[in-house]
Amino acid sequence: MLLMIPGPVEVSPAVVEAFSGPPPGHLAPHVIDAHGRALERLRELFLAGPASQPFAVPGSGTIAMEMAVANLVEAGDQVIVVNTGYFSDRISEMARRRGADVREVRAAPGDVPAPDDLERAFADGEASVVFVTHVDTSTGVRVDPEPICRRARETNALTVFDGVCATGAERFEMENWGADVYLTASQKAIGLPPGLALMVASPEAIEKRHRLRDEVPMALDWDQWLPIMQAYEDRRPSYFSTPATNHIMALDVSLGEILQGGMEAVFQRHQSAAEAMRRAWASMGLELLSSPGVTANTMSAVKYPDGSGPLILETARENGVALAGGLYPGLKQTYFRVGHMGYSTTRPDHLEKTVRAVAAGLDACGLEVDADAAVDALDERG
Ligand code: PMP
Repeated sequence: MLLMIPGPVEVSPAVVEAFSGPPPGHLAPHVIDAHGRALERLRELFLAGPASQPFAVPGSGTIAMEMAVANLVEAGDQVIVVNTGYFSDRISEMARRRGADVREVRAAPGDVPAPDDLERAFADGEASVVFVTHVDTSTGVRVDPEPICRRARETNALTVFDGVCATGAERFEMENWGADVYLTASQKAIGLPPGLALMVASPEAIEKRHRLRDEVPMALDWDQWLPIMQAYEDRRPSYFSTPATNHIMALDVSLGEILQGGMEAVFQRHQSAAEAMRRAWASMGLELLSSPGVTANTMSAVKYPDGSGPLILETARENGVALAGGLYPGLKQTYFRVGHMGYSTTRPDHLEKTVRAVAAGLDACGLEVDADAAVDALDERG
């Protein structure tokens, strides 16, 4: 089965090899070396500055979100959530549970918030942290981080970007833009199985952690993890909680593969793959949930055309391709989602198989489609 959901996604053969086999001990010299190099490589992947602090801990994207919230938010804080969908709702709830006063700046489904609405949230200069979902996986919407970073710096607010469906695929210039936390998980464009929570924090974010009066839950506390991460970067053994050693070995390999041609090539490859998929959708008369100017490159949220529905997904599965249903509350039944990130963007055959599987689904719904024309549209022959 070809896994074309918006995460987890297909991984490279080198990653499968690095991940497989008996678990190595976390203090074995070659594991410490891989751990240290993987942390250094995270900085490169995030285009982060030399003083920033990478973390790689066992967990999911949700754990990474919780870690950022736990270390930066305490009771009574004013925070802004730029809400573009399901995962923004989640981080709002996390901040609320920490006792923060959450100002949500909401967008219509498939869009980003209006700049005026965002400006109103910033206007009194009281917000201490701004949370943004870089790509919301429920809508396929990408928010432009740069202007938000600029505006937040003017009011001394820290910025946290959830890059779970973006990191390693969509442009993110952590140092140039002055972002404070970029968090992600292993199972999407990072190219690993699920199981690692990853992030890089700016010195200002780490400093904010030190100023917190509230206690931070121990397993999420940057202060617990910081000396461990620094030890691994120095290639010294250290222990707080057992690292996911197979994941760490695979992370080192995956980041090495991703960084090989430079980040510009990574961003470009994802954009080209996304444009190819969008041409194929259009050639089959399919429309996206997301507005054109804000559509992500990592995935497509495709509206079911009239007369079709989940039979498309069932048929795609029978054709060897796994796709995902909708996720946005209230709109779930109206669209489906296709991931096109990471290893599959290096495999035109994956994209072609996916387009043919969707065409078969439309055909099963009694809709007329030209699958060959859709495949031709992928490489602009159409
Ligand atoms: N944020 C975004 C944007 C996501 O897409 C996801 C997972 N789909 C998460 C957070 C949560 O990650 P996880 O499922 O690994 O907890």
